[in-house]
Parts: sequence; structure tokens; C-alpha cells
Amino acid sequence: MKPARKTDPKPRSVAVANTRASDLDKGIAPLDAKMDDLEVVWTHVPLLAGISKDLKKVYIDTSLDKVITVQGKQIDVVKQLTVHELTEYAAMQGGLSYADAHGVALTAEHALLKTQYAIDENGIAEYEAYFLSKEHSKDCENCFAPADIYPGPYEASGMMGKIAKPTS
Ligand SMILES: [Zn+2]
Repeated sequence: MKPARKTDPKPRSVAVANTRASDLDKGIAPLDAKMDDLEVVWTHVPLLAGISKDLKKVYIDTSLDKVITVQGKQIDVVKQLTVHELTEYAAMQGGLSYADAHGVALTAEHALLKTQYAIDENGIAEYEAYFLSKEHSKDCENCFAPADIYPGPYEASGMMGKIAKPTS
């Protein structure tokens, strides 16, 4: 998802440029089935968003807004991030690296912006700048992602220490 992206392994824009259409297909297939079943939980998420290992919850960082305005359009941030996390998860399960899966997920998000909101490239840049401005939980020393978050992105980013330890 999406994150104190200063230290992301790949800048979002670069990852998108490297994404192939075939990678996108790999990621999007499972989306329809899962989308409506997810419970949305607002909490500390150092990488801004994530999904639980059982795929029942989407975690969204409390620094984010539910809706943002880009080029006069009201963008559903929860839906955008849910698409991102599910796509990224599916792509990683399909064998892509985190960096490539993240790129596929961004491509899916941007496709939604273009098709559902008629947002152009300038709007996409504005949209990405919004997330770059939200670094709260990554920079926060005592902010941890939920213990049951899917750890793939954290493993790949050397951030396993930012996931809470299981309580039981
Ligand atoms: Zn991602």
C-alpha cells in the first residue's frame, strides 16, 4: 500500500513505468470476490495500508482521509487502497517480488482513477503527492502495524520490527 515512502524500495512512479499489462491481469482477477467482504480498520499502519493474513480486514493508517479531492473529483481512498492491497497480495502470491507487485498495484489504482474519475496524469501526480505527505506511522517510534497484517511488504522492506508482536 501505501506509506512513508521516502525509503520505499522503488519510487511509485518508477515502479509503474516498469509494470507490464500481463502483471496487471495476474493481480486483478481475485478482486471482485473479496472487495465487498473486507472489514475496514483504521489503525497505525507504517506502510499506510495492508490486509490481514486471513484477507478479512483491510488496515488503513489513521493519518489518511476517507475521501480526497483531486481535479474536482471525490476519490474514495479506502477503495483505492483496498484495490492496491488486494492486487499487491495476489501478485506476490503469484510469484512477483514486492517491488514489482507494488508497481502492479499502483497501476491498478491509477487505472481506477482514470476510468472511474476521469483523472489525468497531472491528477495522478497530485494523488501520489498526497500519500507522500502522509508519513505519520512510519516515522512514529511507537506505531506498529497489527500483528496479523500480511507481512510480505514489511519483510521486503526490512520493516518486520514495525509489526506488533502477537499478544497471545
Ligand atoms: Zn504497495
